[in-house]
Amino acid sequence: MAESALFGMDTPALTALMQSLGQPRYRAAQLAAALYRQRAASLDEIATLPIALRGQLIAAGYGVGLPILAQTATSVDGTERYLVQLADGETVETVWMPDGDLPEPDVDLRDRDSRPFKRATICVSSQVGCAVNCHFCLTAKLGIRRNLTPGEIAGQVAAVLTRHQVEVAAGGNPDRINLVFMGMGEPFLNYDAFMQAFRILSAEMGISPARMTVSTSGIEPAIRRFALEPIRPRLALSLNASNDTIRAEIMPITRKWNIASLLEALRTIPFGKREYVTFEYVLLGGINDQPEHAREVLALLKGMNAKVNLIVWNPGPGIDYHQPTPEAVDRFHKLLIAGGIPTFTRRPRGRDIYAACGQLKRTIETELVQLA
Ligand code: SAH
Ligand code: SF4
Repeated sequence: MAESALFGMDTPALTALMQSLGQPRYRAAQLAAALYRQRAASLDEIATLPIALRGQLIAAGYGVGLPILAQTATSVDGTERYLVQLADGETVETVWMPDGDLPEPDVDLRDRDSRPFKRATICVSSQVGCAVNCHFCLTAKLGIRRNLTPGEIAGQVAAVLTRHQVEVAAGGNPDRINLVFMGMGEPFLNYDAFMQAFRILSAEMGISPARMTVSTSGIEPAIRRFALEPIRPRLALSLNASNDTIRAEIMPITRKWNIASLLEALRTIPFGKREYVTFEYVLLGGINDQPEHAREVLALLKGMNAKVNLIVWNPGPGIDYHQPTPEAVDRFHKLLIAGGIPTFTRRPRGRDIYAACGQLKRTIETELVQLA
C-alpha cells in the first residue's frame, strides 16, 4: 500500500491526526514546523517528535511523501529543469530560474556551485499533462494523465528550495523567491488541490501571496470561484489572441468560454488598488502578431488595470507554428505601451533545455543528470 503523505496536510489536518493518535496539539505544530520550515525529507529526520510517535505514524501508514527531483538538465542561462518523481511513478517537471544579478548572458552558468542568485522564480506544475489542447503548447500533446495533489504541487517548491538551500526563517518570507504556476497542466482544472497547495505555501511555508502567480487558459467558472477567495495569489490569463476567431483556432477552449465571458469573470475579482491582472500573449508569427491585433488587444483591455506579458512562441517538435520576427515583437510591444498598457516581453529561459514556456514535456531527450 502506498504511504499516505503528511506533506500537504495543513496545521488543522495535522492537529486532527495527532488527536486521533492520542497526542497533544503541540505535536501538530512541531510536525508542521518540521515539514514546512525545516523541510524534513523523512520521519527519521524529525527529531522533535518522540521515536514512539514516529513509529505510530509509520504504523498508521504515514510518511513525509515529498516528490523527488529525479533528474535535472541545466541551461547555459542557469535555468534548471527537473524531472520530478511522484509516489505512483508518474512524473512532472519543475523549473528553477535564477535571476537578478546574472553575469553577461554568454557566460555559461552550468557550474552550479559558483552560480550566484539574488532572486529566483520557480515554475510549478499542477497536473500530469493537460486536457486543454492549446495547439501551440507541447504539454497539450501529453493529454491529461491525472491531477496533482496539494502535497505534490507544494512539494515541488519544497524540493527545489531544499536543493538550492533556500532558508525560510520561522514566520519569515523567503523574499527572494517567486512562484509561477505555469508548468504542466491547467491549475484551474485542478482548482481545489491548487488552492490547498497555495494555502500550504502561504500559510505554512511563509511565501507571500503577492509573490505567487497562477496562470489560467481561461476556465470561466473557476475564475468566478477564485474571485470569492479571501486570500489569493496573483492571476494571469493566457489571452494569446485579440479576438475569438483567432483564439478559437489556437485555443479550442475558446468555443466553450469566449474572451468576453472571461473578461466578465475577471471583473468580479476584487483586485487591490495597485494590483494588476496580467494577460499573457504568446506571439505566433503571422497569426496574432500584427499591428491590428495589438490595437484589438488595447480595445479589449481598455479600462482594466491590466499588464501584458508578451511571450515569443517557443518552438517544439511536431508543432507547426512560426516564431514572430524580432521587428514584429518590437512593434507589438511598442503599440501596447503607446496605448497605455504596461507591457513586458518575457525573456526566454532555458530554451536550450526545453524549459521555456510550453516546452515542459517529459519525453524530450536532453542532457539529463541523474539526481536520485
Ligand atoms: N495552463 C496554464 C498555465 C501553463 S502554460 C495556461 O495555459 O495559462 C503557461 C504559459 O505558457 C501560458 O500563457 C501559455 O499560453 C504559454 N505557452 C504555452 N506553450 C507555449 C510555447 N510553445 N511558447 C511560448 N509560450 C507558451
Ligand atoms: Fe494546457 Fe496551458 Fe498548455 Fe494550454 S497552454 S495546453 S492550458 S498547459
